[in-house]
Amino acid sequence: MTFANLGLSTAITDTLTELGYQKPTPIQAQAIPLILSAKDILAAAQTGTGKTAAFTLPILEQLKQGTRAEAKQVRALILAPTRELASQIGDSVRRYSQGLGLRSQTIFGGVKAFPQINGLQRGADILVATPGRLIDLVNQDAVKFDQLEFLVLDEADRMLDLGFEEALNELLALLPKSRQSMMFSATYSDAVKTLAKLWLNDPEEVAA
Ligand code: AMP
Repeated sequence: MTFANLGLSTAITDTLTELGYQKPTPIQAQAIPLILSAKDILAAAQTGTGKTAAFTLPILEQLKQGTRAEAKQVRALILAPTRELASQIGDSVRRYSQGLGLRSQTIFGGVKAFPQINGLQRGADILVATPGRLIDLVNQDAVKFDQLEFLVLDEADRMLDLGFEEALNELLALLPKSRQSMMFSATYSDAVKTLAKLWLNDPEEVAA
């Protein structure tokens, strides 16, 4: 099994070769073809399984195919529960998207909002964010979701543990209904299942 077999093009597989990724991890092998076929995904995966690449690579592949040079608005939103996770995901997105001509921004609380707002004004195809700071910036009109095509909810169980349910529901109401959504969670409580029902449309389930 290779990344090319999963449907990723050479612009991306060349980067993976440079990074020393020899073959897809199990979650990548399952999730990448489903995401490329435009399915919503509910994935059970722990940290360390390669889940970040499992959702990022097929999103990049699809964004790259439909590049809108003039698009100033966010086309893919990745939500993470903590600033540490958001910044790790942001770093991964930057690594995996080198050479693709896509711009990404990472925003989280606890730091000044002004540089983040400036970054968003320059334009971001991919936005990685924690829910609280994202709502702040939405309320300041610094982010709009009219062109949103892809949504990822990473570590959904931790989002709920950290009390983000209300913030998530507030955000969900702002997102276009026609979008592809992916939810990743290490555990499946009833609360995670309820969240999945709200956020996902007829999802395929995968497990690492
Ligand atoms: P994650 O579970 O997304 O936090 O990824 C865990 C680590 O595995 C990260 O350091 C990735 O860079 C690395 N990684 C992800 N996919 C692969 C792969 N297919 N081959 C080798 N390393 C990988």
